[in-house]
Amino acid sequence: MAEKSETVKKRIVPLEKIRNIGIIAHIDAGKTTTTERVLFYTGRTYKMGNIDDGTTVMDWMDQERERGITIQSAATTCFWPLTDNIHRINIIDTPGHIDFTAEVERSLRVLDGAVVVLDAEEGVQSQSETVWRQADRYSVPRLCFVNKMDKLGADYYRTLEDIRKKLGAPALPYNLPIGVEDKFEGVVDLLTRKAFVWGKDELGTTFEEREVPQNLKSEVEKWRQKLVEKICDGSYELVERYLEGENLSIDELKKGLREQVIAYNIVPVFAGAALRNKGIQSLLDGIVDFLPSPLDIPPASGYNPKTSQKETRSPDINAPFSALAFKIQTDPHVGRLTYLRIYSGSLKSGSFVFNSSTGRKERVGRLLLMHADHREEIGKALAGEIVAAVGLKKTSTGDTLCDRDHPILFESITFPEPVISLAIEPKTRADQKKLSYALSKLAEADPTFKIRSDPETNQTVISGMGELHLEILVERMKREFKVDASTGTPQVAYKETIKKPAEGEGKYIRQSGGRGQYGHCFLRIEPKPRGEGYEFVSEIKGGAIPREFIPAVEKGVKEAMGKGILAGYPLVDMKVTLFDGTYHEVDSSEVAFKIAGSQALQEAAKKADLVILEPIMKVEVTTPEEHMGDIIGDLSSRRAQILGSETKGNTRVITALVPLAEISGYATILRSLSQGRASFYMEPSHYEEVPKNVAEKIIEKKE
Ligand code: GDP
Repeated sequence: MAEKSETVKKRIVPLEKIRNIGIIAHIDAGKTTTTERVLFYTGRTYKMGNIDDGTTVMDWMDQERERGITIQSAATTCFWPLTDNIHRINIIDTPGHIDFTAEVERSLRVLDGAVVVLDAEEGVQSQSETVWRQADRYSVPRLCFVNKMDKLGADYYRTLEDIRKKLGAPALPYNLPIGVEDKFEGVVDLLTRKAFVWGKDELGTTFEEREVPQNLKSEVEKWRQKLVEKICDGSYELVERYLEGENLSIDELKKGLREQVIAYNIVPVFAGAALRNKGIQSLLDGIVDFLPSPLDIPPASGYNPKTSQKETRSPDINAPFSALAFKIQTDPHVGRLTYLRIYSGSLKSGSFVFNSSTGRKERVGRLLLMHADHREEIGKALAGEIVAAVGLKKTSTGDTLCDRDHPILFESITFPEPVISLAIEPKTRADQKKLSYALSKLAEADPTFKIRSDPETNQTVISGMGELHLEILVERMKREFKVDASTGTPQVAYKETIKKPAEGEGKYIRQSGGRGQYGHCFLRIEPKPRGEGYEFVSEIKGGAIPREFIPAVEKGVKEAMGKGILAGYPLVDMKVTLFDGTYHEVDSSEVAFKIAGSQALQEAAKKADLVILEPIMKVEVTTPEEHMGDIIGDLSSRRAQILGSETKGNTRVITALVPLAEISGYATILRSLSQGRASFYMEPSHYEEVPKNVAEKIIEKKE
């Protein structure tokens, strides 16, 4: 009990002492190890684990469950430093292993700053690059942690150069490593010119403060000067004093650096080796000292659903309540957990909130803070905080919750469309119900995972972001929900679109006996840029079609688009304009206009130069030099567009864009091409028109 009350006491830190951060990385760079170490140093009670004990993702997840810890929870709370000036750090999970970039996107929305973990030997890898660009889009201030400094081939300065060149980031070292590989033993803090050398105890909790080693002195001065100059760049006052040769205090420099990091003018870089318990404390200090608090970021903006006026919410505890639901998880103990980032006001457990995305009122049950090794119930959550709410049944990812009298709607989180699908069926009839339940729970938690039933085959079809994504979900279904299911072969999620504008007419008139049917409309369709989706506009004037029937026309249009024309794949990226039509006083009905809308769309689409689009994956293959030729040759035979290849030590990294259809089962192919020595990483890039001969085959297969 004593411990809990202390935590509760610590929890109430002023807003400026809250850090909502994410730890992001390329697979295997060390995100999990770093997170674990952070939780260890901030909690001390929590047993340190070693990732290498488990061999696969699944083992790792099982291990997590067995240890009963919640690194996997969407947000974990911890405190640093341990005494004095205590800050609360909320670590928002950004999965690297099991999900794809959509997960990162969602967490970037609600975090205020990020730590990017890099492998000191590999440097900047493709996934770090993708995540970096995403973080740019949300202007997230960040620090870099150059991990694995103990690894053979580690190079701090090369990685730094990589960050500057490949990511175009204003990166500067905050500390310099002392030694490298098995001689990596400490860091020098550039601002204070203090060297920290870790003690011999296995947990690295002790370190000695020393003089800067002689052989590092000039390097330290060189980098310190660069850092100080850049800090001064941000302030007229500092630059003047600096130029006049005045000595700036450490506090002033730190304050200046904080401002420059928040403005994204400096990305400070830290050296470490999480696995060896090295460099974590300095990184934690960096998070506290340089990453923004909720007060340092611009207010959240959205619009008032009643007036459509733009509005903002500052992190003010006394302002009306507003929050964004950014993740739903099913927890074995408490059921459905909805993670909320509170932007303004406060939220009491047991109170009612207004979901402005659905227009419904809902009651919040309990509010929980997730720690590394326990969960803590709280009575009230405040602006700037991240909490998990129990009891919200009708709130989905991306929904805004707010005060009913002061409604606001934040922009929802957008997720990429699934690119691959497969049919799934239960092994026994008895499993049917369990299967539907499991699928719906998994889909609730992961917006890039979709379920539908195919009306033609009566099968359940699941779709996601890649083969691995679906494999993992099916695996989780077996383990967590105990449902055994068999799956079909993965199918590429093609789409259809048009290349030129066209018009179409739809007429549904039946007048034989009794009340007839009358719907008649004219549509114009025009291509939209890729990825912009669908837009419906009505230009009906003078009541050519009564207003109440216009939504019915749109319904028909949507239905026809969903079914596709060429090969049964959904039509995307077009603007549909309803510009004329006629009606009948008695016989017109919604059904008739719906059918007319569908007909008009089909007619127009057939004249609009229809094409099939396919998902293109960005693939990065890392291979020893000698297999490079075979791998490139093989990729070329898969309609790949090779973007480039790069040398990293003894390995080559090939980047290419490859149609998903050509690269199914690539893990096996690559294994045999390289005797198991090459590895790859793949993620959806964009949709592109398929070549004519391929399109013909796709259409043929469908018929
Ligand atoms: P994640 O995929 O980014 O979460 O990476 P993990 O934390 O699972 O680490 C991937 C692998 O790198 C594991 O085998 C770790 O033991 C190893 N690893 C993590 N940190 C270090 C480090 O500081 N040094 C070395 N040599 N290996 C590390």
